[in-house]
Amino acid sequence: MEKTCYFSPVVAQLSPYVPGEQPKLANLVKLNTNENPYPPSPQVIAAITQAAQQGLQLYPDPAATVLRQAIAAQHGLTLEQVFLGNGSDEVLAHVFFAFFQQNCPLLMPDISYSFYQVYCRLYGIEVRTVPLDVSLQLRVADYATDRAVAGVVLANPNAPTGMGLPLSDIECLLQMHPNRVVLVDEAYVDFGGQSAVGLIDRYPNLLVVHTLSKSRSLAGLRIGYACGQAHLIDALTRVKNSFNSYPLDRLAIAGGVAAFEDRAYFEQTCQAVMSSREGLVLALEDLGFVVLPSQTNFVFARHPKVDAAQLATNLRQRGVLVRHFNQARIEQYLRISIGTLHQCDQLVMTLTEILQPVV
Ligand code: PMP
Repeated sequence: MEKTCYFSPVVAQLSPYVPGEQPKLANLVKLNTNENPYPPSPQVIAAITQAAQQGLQLYPDPAATVLRQAIAAQHGLTLEQVFLGNGSDEVLAHVFFAFFQQNCPLLMPDISYSFYQVYCRLYGIEVRTVPLDVSLQLRVADYATDRAVAGVVLANPNAPTGMGLPLSDIECLLQMHPNRVVLVDEAYVDFGGQSAVGLIDRYPNLLVVHTLSKSRSLAGLRIGYACGQAHLIDALTRVKNSFNSYPLDRLAIAGGVAAFEDRAYFEQTCQAVMSSREGLVLALEDLGFVVLPSQTNFVFARHPKVDAAQLATNLRQRGVLVRHFNQARIEQYLRISIGTLHQCDQLVMTLTEILQPVV
């Protein structure tokens, strides 16, 4: 008798993304998932509190117009050029569904945000990974091809390496593949990268994705967005409305608007993260680490004399969480999120303790 199988064949070959650990214990030094170490602006808390007191029995605005307006104003775009989702992960899922199912391979770096490959498995999109060079830099010339491609996806700055590309390189990719969408994931751009949003009016094939999880301290609220010309945003909206017509709840809409209104707080916290990063890089180098230049709220570092997986385990035993990827070419690296000055000091003290017998 044939064995019963309830799920569809595509489910059998899924291998979902595994998010970084969200520990139950308090008082750990949590530097493993690139959250902002600072809380959101007090104005965000006030706006959410107010929204909670009025209207929760009603559905939210399915177009989330006030938030899209705030985002459009922030970037000098129009309302029709902004698409919202429940975290940029969801925005990315809709982008992959809408643009990359083309019966030819999607190009992406071999080392990048691993969720991209998860969407490809979900939607049956063929992937062609393009290796980063020996110094883990992306070389745009390697994306030129005579074969048909479904599009190009990259994170700029890249994750987990932390290194960014200049806009001239993004323009090169856009011109190389004028008939396909080039997706630039700018999750970390506010910590020193160059944003491609200003290129949108010139390139009908450019989509830029942002998140409020990092530079706006709102990972817990789940807000992401895509910017692009209206025809691309319209396609995304058609996909979204075939799936869930309410991208965000009332609390997220209110909190998101307030986050964009308090520009001073945003600038101040980004600045604080970037100056902690400077100090942390120097301290890690003093301990013998090789640290890649970072334009993000994390650093990617290896110690020539110490096994990175073991080091992550040793740190964890002492209450410090960092991220190690068991992946070819980067297994000797640790990805360390930038914490407050105090958290960075705790990390460095703990590393000093662990490394003492070695170096
Ligand atoms: N893109 C990149 C490159 C990321 O590192 C992350 C966070 N893990 C995301 C997108 C998703 O962010 P979120 O869903 O919180 O907006």
